[in-house]
Amino acid sequence: VKFALVDLQLPDRKANREHTGGFGSFMQADGVFGGIISRLKSSLINLPVLSFAYTAAMLRERGHESCVYRNAPLADADIIIIASSMHSHAHEVAFARDQKQLFPKARVGFYGPFAQTKPEFFEQDADFIIGGELESAIEAFLAGEHEFSGTIDFGTVRNLARLPMPDWEGFPVAEFSYFPMLHRRPFLPMQSTRGCSFNCDFCPYMVSQTKLFRRRDPIDVVDEMERNVRLYGMRSFLFRDICFTLNKKHSAAIASEMLHRGLDLEWGCETRLDCLTPELIDLMVKAGLRGINLGIESVSNDILNGVGKKNPEIEHQEAIIGILKQRGIRVNAFYMLGLPGDTAESMQRTIDYACRLNTQGAQFCVTTPFPGTPLYETQKDQLITTDFREFTEYRPVVDIGTATPKEVSLAHARAYRQFYLRWDWIRRYALSTTLRLIANAVPASCQPPAAPPVGRVENLSGSRHAES
Ligand code: SF4
Repeated sequence: VKFALVDLQLPDRKANREHTGGFGSFMQADGVFGGIISRLKSSLINLPVLSFAYTAAMLRERGHESCVYRNAPLADADIIIIASSMHSHAHEVAFARDQKQLFPKARVGFYGPFAQTKPEFFEQDADFIIGGELESAIEAFLAGEHEFSGTIDFGTVRNLARLPMPDWEGFPVAEFSYFPMLHRRPFLPMQSTRGCSFNCDFCPYMVSQTKLFRRRDPIDVVDEMERNVRLYGMRSFLFRDICFTLNKKHSAAIASEMLHRGLDLEWGCETRLDCLTPELIDLMVKAGLRGINLGIESVSNDILNGVGKKNPEIEHQEAIIGILKQRGIRVNAFYMLGLPGDTAESMQRTIDYACRLNTQGAQFCVTTPFPGTPLYETQKDQLITTDFREFTEYRPVVDIGTATPKEVSLAHARAYRQFYLRWDWIRRYALSTTLRLIANAVPASCQPPAAPPVGRVENLSGSRHAES
């Protein structure tokens, strides 16, 4: 069977379908300065849909063909799986309609949490909709349990050891980047765990990955790193685990194994402040950790408690961030404005706190309820729009009552200005970021490889490369 895996690239907007738990993100901050920052981020961060690389490997192992499409015209295929997103769903549906006309015999359908939770936007133009984790649906197909028709939902992959290593053949590897956190390229995403037992009410990742925490054998994870270096010349990677240090022994075992094998790789991860200790930070830094995404969300634990999250005390937060900065780690902190209970005053306190922490990066999102989350259930009667193209996390879509949508909008635009146009930030980060920006413009193929690659991707449209 021939499969087409589609991560549609649109000329006027970047859907980033790997972000935000598979709902996608569309960087579009308000205000002149916010607009510049979001446009920069949008062009410098380029992540592929990781599940497509797992799917390609699973299909190839069993003798099926698969091709990954981003913007090229589609060749003939029996099964066309389109990654869905929340704000670009209308484009994806129009694309599906065209494909059905061009290839009447093909089965065309969607995958992703938005198609899963809002099938009414897709089903008229779809032969199937896949919910849960894509790989569990592929496993079930390979076991003869379905034929890509109707609603397909086999939940999560319970045992990650059953998955083969992601197959990046045919992906435009040289285009992938995660700048400014990670500087070296070629860059690839990796994953060592799925799920998160913290299960916060607003977390979009819970819709498909759920609170069921699963992890791969650290040895297999480091084997994959070595393979990526050998095949694709990988020099940096980001763990796409939603909370990489949730199990500290697991992350320490990976770092120790990397050190044991002498790998020279730059890498980043995402986690929570209460899942880090000074010892773990030091070990990970020795193993090449250079950047970290941290979900801080709000300065107020009372407000966070209302959405099922609890941060450690402010002193502890500041101490951990101080250690990370001392060790030279590029810290990118996430904040949410317009949480239930937020007021104009509490949002300003969060912005002031972000300035005080003075991390290299700060991302301010407007709190957005994602379908399928408990927050969506609580807020669905407070929505000020049901046009999901507006659910970008950059515009208020809910009237939270304690602050008006206009106040949330103004706070959001002000946040970027106040954070980045500050002497402390400019002095500490602006020059180095600009120099790195220039260096980052050098194509990945011109950067020195981490090790002599055996079968490097040369032709981005799908060359074959040898694996020794
Ligand atoms: S801790 Fe982070 S990854 Fe885990 S559920 Fe909460 S927001 Fe999601």
